[in-house]
Amino acid sequence: MKNISGRCLCGSVAYQGSVEPVFSGNCHCTDCRKLSGNGHLSLLVVPNDQVRVEGQVKQHSVTADSGATVSNYFCVDCGSQVYKTGELMPDMTFIVASTLDDPEVFTPEISLYASRAVSWDLPHSSTVVFETMPASET
Ligand SMILES: [Zn+2]
Ligand SMILES: [Zn+2]
Repeated sequence: MKNISGRCLCGSVAYQGSVEPVFSGNCHCTDCRKLSGNGHLSLLVVPNDQVRVEGQVKQHSVTADSGATVSNYFCVDCGSQVYKTGELMPDMTFIVASTLDDPEVFTPEISLYASRAVSWDLPHSSTVVFETMPASET
């Protein structure tokens, strides 16, 4: 288990937990690119019951390739995205790694949606690269 904590830009939304991450990865999908301000979003995926989030968030939901709903949560004051949830993995919280107090506790192990990566932000060579999502790699 590792202890983590983090917060949005203004600090109104904060979280902490003692977590056993299910996976750590960079997602290069179009939605994550638009959310991140870069070519990918870095996500630390942990069980819901291992992390506690405090503060007022705004939820925005989109339909993913799978047809399932993915929800993004933003601080109502500063607009930083703090985490995501997904209908297909309802027990998991996808923490946006850039909000960690110590970003170095995050090490990306996989890259998702490499097929959509932009030329100026390619999947990191140290990661296991998936063209889309692992579940759809047949
Ligand atoms: Zn904020
Ligand atoms: Zn994505």
